[in-house]
Amino acid sequence: MGTPLAPNATRVLLLGSGELGKEVVIALQRLGVETIAVDRYANAPAMQVAHRSHVIDMTDPTAVRAVVEAERPHLVVPEIEAIATDALAGIESDCLAEVIPTARATQLTMNREGIRRLAAEELDLPTSPYRFADSAEELSEGAREVGFPCVVKPVMSSSGKGQSLVRSADEVAAAWEHAATGSRVDAGRVIVEGFVDFEYEITQLTVRAVGPSGEVETFFCEPIGHRQDSGDYVESWQPQAMSPVALAAARDVATRVTSALGGRGVFGVELFVRGDEVVFSEVSPRPHDTGLVTLATQRQSEFELHARAILGLPVDPSLTRPGASAVVYGERDAVGIAFEGVAEALAVPESDLRLFGKPESFPRRRMGVAVAGGDTTDEARDRATEAASHVRPTA
Ligand code: AMP
Repeated sequence: MGTPLAPNATRVLLLGSGELGKEVVIALQRLGVETIAVDRYANAPAMQVAHRSHVIDMTDPTAVRAVVEAERPHLVVPEIEAIATDALAGIESDCLAEVIPTARATQLTMNREGIRRLAAEELDLPTSPYRFADSAEELSEGAREVGFPCVVKPVMSSSGKGQSLVRSADEVAAAWEHAATGSRVDAGRVIVEGFVDFEYEITQLTVRAVGPSGEVETFFCEPIGHRQDSGDYVESWQPQAMSPVALAAARDVATRVTSALGGRGVFGVELFVRGDEVVFSEVSPRPHDTGLVTLATQRQSEFELHARAILGLPVDPSLTRPGASAVVYGERDAVGIAFEGVAEALAVPESDLRLFGKPESFPRRRMGVAVAGGDTTDEARDRATEAASHVRPTA
């Protein structure tokens, strides 16, 4: 490790500077890393704590290449999916920088089709039945084939954008329209998946890091349970109780998919669980939003684990205390909002708060998160939810 801002600095460049990136930057800073934060808008959360920042269009391959050539980081760490991943492949093959976890992993996971075909067709992991469609007609046929109810999602989307639950053939046309408006880029392609009637869903945080053997090994955090509203996470807790058979199945699926993606770092493997049965949903090759709970529960949060793993340092994913997280939304359209009730929130036992500092608020924009510990996850959930409810965005 070098000294930041000196010629021997260890430099890490983040592509995407949201709340997850902000925590990764803080973890890297503590280890004496020089950090550069990049996003499409100024004053993004991670930019506020990095050494330097750049505002670029991250979907423009020329702009991505140029910022990496100018900064010459040792590591490039994607924080979001919507990046020109072909540029990352070039950066990796030209040995300009190491891409975390690998350029191929970012290419496969930026599009629902790449990761679904890898998981179901190459790795033979259990998934919901699925079809891809490029038109309303193809979608009707695909929906009929997977059966009703089914879920329609743009292949280029996340956080529930453009996603709909379709109960019958009459609802297909509306789902196609909704997907067209919610896609990140107008790819005009959707996936239709059979609806999985799960008991609960988890994120299995999985860390690929150099272990005692000196080789990259696979480490697991305790499973995280979460609740989604319209495809977006509102609450999470850790540990989620699971049967030993389901836990073993979850870890087997997580090992297989993360080994196929390769590299080092934290992965968020999303799984649906019913009894002892586990169904693969998707994977993020980076810390996961539901994993914000680890700020309250683990010896090393998922952000510290990511920082250590990418630097080739040892990791300890152990749980120290049951905990929970609850999201604070913006609730209004405004620039430079304020928050009331912060003192009340922090008066809740074992609670903590992150206000991300996003310059602009929207009603459903995640502006902060409350986390809390407890003797049980139920106690922690009550505390995190109470703490979040005290925080009131005002103009
Ligand atoms: P995704 O954007 O694919 O992570 O989906 C967001 C959320 O929608 C998931 O966390 C689930 O709660 C729900 N969901 C997505 N796909 C399905 C499915 N095939 N069956 C049931 N629920 C789903």
